[in-house]
Amino acid sequence: MKKPCLLGLFAAACFRTEPGPVVATIYPLAAIAGEIAGESVQVKGIVPPSADPHSFEPSPADAALLAGAGVVIYAGPVMEPWVKESVGDRKDVVLVDASVSGKMEGNDPHVWLDPARAKMIASDVEKALSTRWPQDSLEFRANLARFEERVDSFDAWFRARLDSVPERRFVSVHPAWNYFAARYGLVEVASLNQTHGGETSPLDLARVVRLMNSQDVRAVFGSAREEYPGVSVLEREAQARVARLDPIGDEGDPERSDYVGLLFYNARLMLGVLK
Ligand SMILES: [Zn+2]
Repeated sequence: MKKPCLLGLFAAACFRTEPGPVVATIYPLAAIAGEIAGESVQVKGIVPPSADPHSFEPSPADAALLAGAGVVIYAGPVMEPWVKESVGDRKDVVLVDASVSGKMEGNDPHVWLDPARAKMIASDVEKALSTRWPQDSLEFRANLARFEERVDSFDAWFRARLDSVPERRFVSVHPAWNYFAARYGLVEVASLNQTHGGETSPLDLARVVRLMNSQDVRAVFGSAREEYPGVSVLEREAQARVARLDPIGDEGDPERSDYVGLLFYNARLMLGVLK
């Protein structure tokens, strides 16, 4: 298989671009869209994998790209209110709102991290692309079927391994894993960062240390993207085992440059700290 078009995120290539490119905001959505689009259509990403999607602000060039897009795939108005501002009331753009496709609950935007919801998002991406480019619809559908199969094989692999993991409680540094945890019977007992982007007070940190020690919880779902200040305290004072997870993915790392690779990447790290 040739590399997916996603790898051309920041490079022009010989893709079909009429009637306007496919634009995806955060990297995991761009990765999913790139897989469904395959060889026919180029997907352009907006939020660089290194940026914090909660605080990202688009440049004028990003806004222009959105304004001219034929299909826009985004995380939804809770995390990305700026998308609707750039797209405006255009009727000639197909929007895929991942918070709708992935059935967001409450205000938790991290729907893509649940493999089952990711399949629902991918299915809506296929519909959007097929609406735009009906002549390529067979290819999009075949790509979707392949994506679903790969997600299902991850699901079976992970469930088989979880069978021998009785201890499934964890503390997170950022509450990104609730959908994933619910899917697999993992239990978040606390999060250092209850409010997205908010600081953890010393009092909150002390409360989490006490909770981990009194309930004998040692697994921490940390972040590969930034070191949260409280993590070293949890390691020192609560004998935390820290899995440095990546909720976004990384174009430069073949292990987590595509969505299913990212699932395996994170699941292996989780299995290393759950017991
Ligand atoms: Zn988040």
